[in-house]
Amino acid sequence: MLKRHRYSLGLFWLIAIFLLPLPFIQTLSNGLPSIYQSEYRAIYYGTIAYVWMLFAIYLSTKPKWLDRLIGLPEMYMVHGILSIAAIVLSYLHKEGTVSSGWIKTTGDWSFDLLLGLMIYSLVFMAGWLTNRILILKRIKQILEKLFKHELSIWIHRLNIVAVILAFIHVQLIPYVTSIKPFIYLFDVASAVVLSCYLFSKFVKPLTYEQGMLLSNTTIAKNVQELVIRLPRSSHIELLAGDYVFMAFPDYRGLKEMHPFSIANAPNEQQEIVLVIRGDGDFTRYLKKVPVESRVNIDGGFGRYQKFLDDQPKDANIVILAGGIGVTPLLSTIDANLNRNVKVFYTGHRKEDLLYASRFMNWQKKDNFDCHIQVGRFKDGQVLNELPKDWPTNTVFLIGGPSAMMHHWIRLLKNNGAGNGQIYYEEFSW
Ligand SMILES: Cc1cc2nc3c(=O)[nH]c(=O)nc-3n(C[C@H](O)[C@H](O)[C@H](O)COP(=O)(O)OP(=O)(O)OC[C@H]3O[C@@H](n4cnc5c(N)ncnc54)[C@H](O)[C@@H]3O)c2cc1C
Repeated sequence: MLKRHRYSLGLFWLIAIFLLPLPFIQTLSNGLPSIYQSEYRAIYYGTIAYVWMLFAIYLSTKPKWLDRLIGLPEMYMVHGILSIAAIVLSYLHKEGTVSSGWIKTTGDWSFDLLLGLMIYSLVFMAGWLTNRILILKRIKQILEKLFKHELSIWIHRLNIVAVILAFIHVQLIPYVTSIKPFIYLFDVASAVVLSCYLFSKFVKPLTYEQGMLLSNTTIAKNVQELVIRLPRSSHIELLAGDYVFMAFPDYRGLKEMHPFSIANAPNEQQEIVLVIRGDGDFTRYLKKVPVESRVNIDGGFGRYQKFLDDQPKDANIVILAGGIGVTPLLSTIDANLNRNVKVFYTGHRKEDLLYASRFMNWQKKDNFDCHIQVGRFKDGQVLNELPKDWPTNTVFLIGGPSAMMHHWIRLLKNNGAGNGQIYYEEFSW
């Protein structure tokens, strides 16, 4: 039967919000001196805020096991929302407790830094938010000319300094450090998260696989197709619709890893096809990279195929794709041609519609039906073409500009589709 709800995501939220802080609160409450009774609540707020910040840092290391379970875009959203909630709790903690000397100074520095970084990150690092609030998106687009994404990543990393200050703040409070079960838990959790973070920043890059660029072709205006061969011994596990992080270590400006979806079904030749639109410094420079260049690859990430595998095998697949957002869906179609597939694919202009001949070939199959047009589909056009039993036997995969994706999600839900029936991955987080 079709899964209409995403229970794993709900469970993930529950664990993050309630379960993780519980042992900290439990051990702390057993040892807090009664003279601080009036501050108990504010002390708990500070503790929960710290645990959430630790968890947000852990999520920023992109744990692969969690990506396959709930998806990296969702993880980044949880990372962002938990961090904001942690800052609200930190404020309540600050207002509800009395401290002095270095205890106060380290606490204040930590809070001020977190607050400043939150405001910055809400504009530059929270695609899940900027894509929903137009004014934020406009501000980001204007300021991004000055504050490039790479610079924003570095500024965002100062959050670690804020958390270290919070750690020192706690170590300076004698009545807290004397609660041994709590402080052991606190120290071990901090050490584990710091180790995961340092591992992901300094050790993991050494494990990136090195592929070779086989071809680099302009397939449309401002769109490059890169074919990359992974090493024969590659341990990268790719599923259809996955994305990889990719960088060219030998070229200035191309050394930072960027995410791109694979546009072909994973194959034994270990070749991946990336289709990339020139949106910024990194992506525009790609057309100059010569073949046989070394490429660093990390992956695969993503849940398009995992989502399909979790649903009944006979469910129809309806794909709504727009512009460059079609790339992961090309790969997904390629790998699922034995299923009933219906595609609605649009581009702003005719030249934005990629791989027309590939769609023509698929169209020859009885179980494949595609509608391709310039300019968006009307709601009725799509709803009328859906399989008759779509509420109970159809899953939807969406890829494209954020506004387009959210339009179709809203429309489908208003017409009875369940959350768990729809899957999409935005190109920004
Ligand atoms: C899951 C996923 C899959 C993607 N697949 C494709 C694809 O198949 N084809 C394609 O053309 N584009 C894809 N993108 C978008 C692509 O990653 C960005 O366009 C690219 O990183 C922009 O880098 P830039 O330096 O050229 O542009 P910039 O000017 O630095 O950035 C342009 C925009 O891209 C975002 N961005 C920049 N760097 C990163 C980064 N390291 N991680 C996340 N977002 C970033 C920023 O929010 C910025 O607003 C994908 C993005 C994600 C998150």
